[in-house]
Amino acid sequence: MTRIDDLVVIGAGPYGLSIAAHAADAGLGVRLLGRPMASWRDHMPDGMYLKSEPWSSNLSAPDGRHTLADYCATRGLAAEHGTPLPIDTFSAYGMWFARQAAPEVEEVTVTEVTPQGDGFRVRTAEGPPLLARTVALAVGVMPFVHHPEGLRELPPAHYSHSSGHRDLTRFAGREVAVLGAGQAALETAALLAEQGARPCLVARRSRLNWNTVPQPLDRPALRALRDPHNGLGTGWRSWVWSELPWAVRRLPASTRERIAATALGPAGAWWLRDRFERRVPVLLGHRLHRAVAVGERTRLGLSTRAGESVVLDVAHVIAATGFVPDLARLELLDAGLRAGLGTVGHSRAPELSPCFESSWPGLFFAGLLTAPSFGPSMRFVHGAGFTAGRLVRGVRKRLGARGPRPGSTGVARFDRAAYPGRPPGVPPGHPTTYLR
Ligand SMILES: Cc1cc2nc3c(=O)[nH]c(=O)nc-3n(C[C@H](O)[C@H](O)[C@H](O)COP(=O)(O)OP(=O)(O)OC[C@H]3O[C@@H](n4cnc5c(N)ncnc54)[C@H](O)[C@@H]3O)c2cc1C
Repeated sequence: MTRIDDLVVIGAGPYGLSIAAHAADAGLGVRLLGRPMASWRDHMPDGMYLKSEPWSSNLSAPDGRHTLADYCATRGLAAEHGTPLPIDTFSAYGMWFARQAAPEVEEVTVTEVTPQGDGFRVRTAEGPPLLARTVALAVGVMPFVHHPEGLRELPPAHYSHSSGHRDLTRFAGREVAVLGAGQAALETAALLAEQGARPCLVARRSRLNWNTVPQPLDRPALRALRDPHNGLGTGWRSWVWSELPWAVRRLPASTRERIAATALGPAGAWWLRDRFERRVPVLLGHRLHRAVAVGERTRLGLSTRAGESVVLDVAHVIAATGFVPDLARLELLDAGLRAGLGTVGHSRAPELSPCFESSWPGLFFAGLLTAPSFGPSMRFVHGAGFTAGRLVRGVRKRLGARGPRPGSTGVARFDRAAYPGRPPGVPPGHPTTYLR
């Protein structure tokens, strides 16, 4: 008889690992697919540090164990408030969590998820397809790399995205323009300078923002009340985003879209400022409008706010321009299914039920794509705990709602009452129901 799993989790980063740990604990038949901690092990340069505080960078196991502090204690390392933690330590923590708390990770690449019966068929690059009653897509940030207009046509020798580098030493002795004003841009530029390259930071903003040194955890009660600590920083606004993602989801779609676009804008970590300012020249208030390869060089056409044109001639451009959640780019998901999903307002992110289920029954999302539904904490490791608990509750509900599989004639239907956003647009030829 063909094996059908209760849940297939696609992606083994902080979210996928946490979801799988909760699902296994709930007694679900779960498979976890993906290269564990791939974004952290393969797509961040050596020498980077976590920006989040160690106590808000835990993966989530149902019993609250296997925290970053637990891992560090076993290795004689410190994970202290106000002390930046190397990303290598965080990657190693994720791998340890995978061994201790999650079901076995199958290191495969998923190429296709298609509806089958009232469940899904999941194809991988490596082996035969799997069947699943529910699927959780926790594919993280890499499918959503943002390439700025104007750079896309440059050959790879002239242009790359910041997520394309583990080793920046290959730029030693060369001029590199780094585009962006967020932590990735500032830290990439500082690391380039420290590793012998000659970087220049180019940003549209007229000034750079820097976070201040975090306040101590133990403070007088009045100060703590005025400016509470939370998983994303300090202050009441970020406290709501961090601690009440369920409440964020109840806001109107247009408000959530605005929060997703503007909350926690680009800013450098407090510990990076001195390293950056001592070594990296900046061109602020400059907008890129053109880039051409000229022999081995790259010529950038920039313009200032006053309308002046500036030409910057470098060996290479690195765009540290982040990631934009966009269902259209999730090519592994069946195109018809994708096009039919309900989305948040005008965004291309899925509208989700309180338990992270999309408008396609049994299809769940986690991580960056869920930020327009549940708010900015979904962009950070901190959101993994809330997500894992809720999502697994949703999977159990869905499996319960379908009843026992053998002989069932379950019908997958869009549950309109569960979605505050616009209903799914259904493309011609793609019905919203599939009979088995
Ligand atoms: C430079 C940088 C620094 C950051 N620093 C911080 C920080 O300090 N603190 C913080 O909280 N957050 C930070 N973040 C954000 C961080 O990426 C997220 O918090 C976290 O990684 C999200 O976890 P995730 O599981 O959703 O995604 P990811 O970590 O991206 O993991 C996704 C997983 O999915 C797998 N996958 C993707 N596609 C497929 C496929 N087709 N088949 C199989 N598997 C697949 C990948 O292999 C990967 O393991 C940073 C991000 C960047 C880029």
